[in-house]
Amino acid sequence: VVVRVSGPTATVCEEGRLIEARLAPKLPGRPVVAGDRVTLRAAGNERTVVAIDPRRTLLERGDGWERRARPLAANADLRVFPAGVAAPPLRPRLLDRYLVAAEVGGLEAAIAITKTDLPHDGSELEEVVDLYRSVGYPALCGSAHDAEFVERLREQIGGRVAVLAGHSGVGKSTLTAALTGVERATGAVSERIGTGRHTTTDPRLIPMPSGGAIVDTAGVRTFHLPRMDREQLERGFPEIAAAAPDCRFRGCAHDGDAGCAVVDAVSPPRLESYRRLLHDLR
Ligand code: GDP
Ligand code: ZN
Repeated sequence: VVVRVSGPTATVCEEGRLIEARLAPKLPGRPVVAGDRVTLRAAGNERTVVAIDPRRTLLERGDGWERRARPLAANADLRVFPAGVAAPPLRPRLLDRYLVAAEVGGLEAAIAITKTDLPHDGSELEEVVDLYRSVGYPALCGSAHDAEFVERLREQIGGRVAVLAGHSGVGKSTLTAALTGVERATGAVSERIGTGRHTTTDPRLIPMPSGGAIVDTAGVRTFHLPRMDREQLERGFPEIAAAAPDCRFRGCAHDGDAGCAVVDAVSPPRLESYRRLLHDLR
């Protein structure tokens, strides 16, 4: 299992041992990412990654103005989306984008709202939490510095692999450290590789002592949705996908179309998110 990729090498966990392996130059399915299961070939002391197993799930982000899909983590079960209730404030529209990426990639999703120890609008928070729970997403609230909150999150993850991905400053590093016991320098990990200093911002897989693992993406600064088609976007909103068969016309875009069943079945802020993303598809 790939723990981390840094340039042309990957750290791979093989039977509990961490080994460094080169990436074969013509590796099909590149790029390799944390969570990938790979085949190694040994030659002397050197290990080379020669094949990537088919991925069960794949979380991707959009890169550049074209929002080309770039893998962020493979084979994770769950995406936990940490969001601050304040500093930075909660942005449901942003949350929806992250949830779409999880759904499209085949991951479950849960929301972890942090910083509830800071001053915030309690009724607004309740509204947001109720909305997402009604759609079916587990939503936890608390402070990343509170052990009880961390334990509830740990229970939510259980023995699974969870990607912690969200905006900067929302508590990813704090939560990752609390869940795994592994501290991370804020922003990025620096380490010695060979003679020079190498800074990596690539996601890395960190096991939790309680079982399961976290994919830490604290070095990933921005998250854009990858380019997708309308069917994928619809799948990204499970309650819209569930209501869509009742629309009068097949292929209804749920954007003011006649006989649309989604309008009555879906909450206005979620529908608005969907429509904005729909108009972004081009
Ligand atoms: P990241 O950028 O998502 O990795 O966020 P960090 O974990 O580095 O947190 C950013 C800052 O917010 C740090 O100073 C944390 O101590 C602080 N912080 C994180 N979570 C909480 C929280 O729940 N409550 C409060 N008050 N501060 C928090
Ligand atoms: Zn419709």
